[in-house]
Amino acid sequence: MSAAHPHAEIVVDLAAIRHNVRLLRQVTSTEVMVVVKANGYGHGMIHSARAAREAGASWLGVAMLDEALALRAAGDTGRILTWLAIPGEDYAEAIRHDIDVTAYTLAEVAEVRAASRVVGAPARLQLKVDTGLSRGGATEQQWPDLVAASRAAEVAGEVTVTGVWSHFAASDEPDHPANDRQEASFLAALKVVEAAGLTPEVTHLANSAAALLRPTSRFDLVRCGLTAYGLDPAPGVPGSFAERLIPAMTVRARLALTKAIPAGAGVSYGHTWTAAEATHVGLVPIGYAEGVPRHASSRAEVFVAGSRRPVRGRICMDQFVVDLGADDLPAGTEVVIIGPGRHGEPTAQDWATACDTINYEIVTRWGGRLRRCYVNETESLATDEASDAR
Ligand SMILES: *Cc1c(COP(=O)(O)O)cnc(C)c1O
Repeated sequence: MSAAHPHAEIVVDLAAIRHNVRLLRQVTSTEVMVVVKANGYGHGMIHSARAAREAGASWLGVAMLDEALALRAAGDTGRILTWLAIPGEDYAEAIRHDIDVTAYTLAEVAEVRAASRVVGAPARLQLKVDTGLSRGGATEQQWPDLVAASRAAEVAGEVTVTGVWSHFAASDEPDHPANDRQEASFLAALKVVEAAGLTPEVTHLANSAAALLRPTSRFDLVRCGLTAYGLDPAPGVPGSFAERLIPAMTVRARLALTKAIPAGAGVSYGHTWTAAEATHVGLVPIGYAEGVPRHASSRAEVFVAGSRRPVRGRICMDQFVVDLGADDLPAGTEVVIIGPGRHGEPTAQDWATACDTINYEIVTRWGGRLRRCYVNETESLATDEASDAR
């Protein structure tokens, strides 16, 4: 596979990301942290981050410190928050690169303080309270001690507490009772923070679904991943502005081969699908090594020559077969696996529905031998307007 003639590629429209980030800022009227973890949800972390900054993202969010350091190495100089550390994390590197880190526990505060003494500068520290997700963060019982320890570290000049935050369990289900409970618990946690004398720059709770659907949860900052890439975190839930987002990712390939097969021919490993009548099939040269879910076997559709075509039989490691029906198309014909959906091509959500998963997983899992390329790389009013108008 040469770079000039890829078998298959991920095409990322950076004007779409800029549009989405601007829309999020405008509709929520808050600062936006664009979450670019996991290689920008499969869209390419560095390019996505650059587009997000151009559109006014005052913060970037990543899970791991290494991701934040990669953003710095690529030249990003804005605020960056990380939130998933393990014991022995290199907090000194975070301090040297002006990266905000998150503590969930007293042990982490102690590690951050030790790193501050090594570097000779205070760490930027945010505190996470577990308001009910039971994942990261201090429980309500642990919270007062975490806050007190962080205040002591601040008084000692070893940290600056820059933020306090939490994360929803069910913000994509606006009527779920956990949402009200978590927001109330967050407000109670902020009272503890205030009483301890901490004055964080930012308090934040909302992810994409809450940013769209729950205005009371927006506080100083919304942490938006999925929506920045143009996807709906709560498909089918009314009352959001998700239809104004533009999906940024297209995955496309070219048919390696087409042929006629007779009635009764079994297709792909295990012959889990058999042609009921004579048909034409096309070979798509990407497989589960590229992140095509094997669960899509005989379930998903792709877009070829103006129509949706069903996947037939099992997805293989490098390839899968689509049914072209009566159409005797030439090898080399373009196949759109997912796209924004404007021309009838399947969306990430269509693949998620076919595979019993969420659109987050569909876009994030692409990899293997897929090449990633970008369109509308440079910020220009003309291209952004063109993409907004689609
Ligand atoms: C991934 C993540 C987000 C972004 O969630 P979206 O639903 O994609 O907006 C926000 N906050 C935290 C803590 C995360 O881990």
